[in-house]
Amino acid sequence: MASDDAKIQSVWSVRYGERVVRKNDVFYNYASYGLPDGDLHMDYNFWVMKSGDKVILMDTGYDISARDWLGEISVLPTPESLKLIELDPLDVDMVITSHFHYDHIGYLELFENAQVISGQAEYDYWFGKRDANALEGEFTTVENLIPVEKAQKEGRLRLISAETEVFPGITVYQVGGHCPGEVVALVQTETGPLILASDAAHFYEQIEHEWPFFAFTSLEEMRNALSFILKLAKETGAVIIPGHDGRTREKFPAAPGAAGSIATVLA
Ligand SMILES: [Zn+2]
Repeated sequence: MASDDAKIQSVWSVRYGERVVRKNDVFYNYASYGLPDGDLHMDYNFWVMKSGDKVILMDTGYDISARDWLGEISVLPTPESLKLIELDPLDVDMVITSHFHYDHIGYLELFENAQVISGQAEYDYWFGKRDANALEGEFTTVENLIPVEKAQKEGRLRLISAETEVFPGITVYQVGGHCPGEVVALVQTETGPLILASDAAHFYEQIEHEWPFFAFTSLEEMRNALSFILKLAKETGAVIIPGHDGRTREKFPAAPGAAGSIATVLA
């Protein structure tokens, strides 16, 4: 049952890393659009939502200094970001994982008390690969999956496959495409609804033109996911927040004080 009046009081995007990419490299089949190539500022984020004394995160970042995946540059590692925004990871009540890629669940182990919300198809896909020793060359590692398994053993993992209100004011949808169990969150806030798209839509161009990203497990599901997000936004009046677009920081204000160096206020 949807709790119609529940509102999340604040939603912040926290930037832990960045790099510059070329449109040609990140948009699937970009050359077919006949448009010039160009740079895009790719941010690496996680999202913090607060409701009363409850704290909910979407994604957790990763330790850029420990492994150079794609040339990411560290802005501030998650443990230090959390200090700067005055958040103790042990006080986080819930972590929604958008998917299990290295840059989204890298610090999941810090949130020892949190309920973890993940897509059922995400769990099945990656643990299936792990059990088959087939993670070589993938965007996740055996180590990345350990805190997911720990949460499961401790009864803290909740797997969802259909539309689910996981917290009053936060509904998650499993959309697939980029990863089999990619999820997006519709968040009801005091200033209106938001869709945290994470990697179902990395950049604004993908929302504006329904352009797929180059990395996917199913191109058809990725296209469907983009259509679904647009339909959901139309039905609810929600603002869509792409997962990795540096321009989000130009559209929304910086958080007050020192937190403004890393955090953007989405609501
Ligand atoms: Zn990502």
